[in-house]
Amino acid sequence: MYKKRMFYQIALKICPFIALLFSILVTVITFYINQGLSSLFIFISIQVYLNWYSIYSISCNATTLKRMNREPKNDSVILTINSESQSPHKFKYWYCEKCLNYTYRPTQHCIGCNKCFHFRDHHCFFIGACIIQQNMGNFIVICFHASLACFYSLSILGPYLYANLEETFIKDPSVFNIIISFCFPIALARYISGKTSCLLLVTLFDALWSVGLLCFAYSIWKLYSCLTGKQKYYGEISRKQELKEVFGSYRLCNFLFPYNGLAGTRDVNGKYQLKEV
Ligand SMILES: [Zn+2]
Ligand SMILES: [Zn+2]
Repeated sequence: MYKKRMFYQIALKICPFIALLFSILVTVITFYINQGLSSLFIFISIQVYLNWYSIYSISCNATTLKRMNREPKNDSVILTINSESQSPHKFKYWYCEKCLNYTYRPTQHCIGCNKCFHFRDHHCFFIGACIIQQNMGNFIVICFHASLACFYSLSILGPYLYANLEETFIKDPSVFNIIISFCFPIALARYISGKTSCLLLVTLFDALWSVGLLCFAYSIWKLYSCLTGKQKYYGEISRKQELKEVFGSYRLCNFLFPYNGLAGTRDVNGKYQLKEV
């Protein structure tokens, strides 16, 4: 049990660095192969890093409504965060055993951030912060742009890799040969047996496909579930959200311009402030 928790804590600390290193590696390799970076790639990168910063800072600044202590004797039962099985809106106030806090609204404690959040979705290992209702818009934008970055790099890396492995393809141009040269576990086995020489690029190629597809699917799914009321935040009864609620008053323009990413704040009705949830 203790070992499991240790492993979890180490993973929580390492994953954001792996994600950052991966993004830098992708940028460097794209830059190297392409002999420069296009303005499209720079724009996508700005979106990714600004929204990353925004998600992180919103998660760090998020506070819960505090209640000083246990309230009146006749107030209803105190329920701790462990009572997840029961419907939260029945409770008058909420208590976290780890933060030793009483709050008015349902909260969920995050071990990674070591604090409580109202309307929490999940802790994102790769961003290193909690995704809550306030930064869900930034999360959707970052997933979408991360996938665009992956596909852009693939469009550069794919032809380069093909040219590098051309010798193998000239000898045997079958689809089967292409698949075994590009598919990572098989490519690794071939590398060990000395049959191919582009291990780093093949690994990157496969990683980019996986990350790109996952991020794309995740962003579309999150957007769809927010708009249709399928999205569930801890403690909230699911309901349909409007674009304005998810992305602020700039709505889908956030996909084109990183307005909300600049200061780590959410704009509410045209004003910059931390959106109260
Ligand atoms: Zn807590
Ligand atoms: Zn967290």
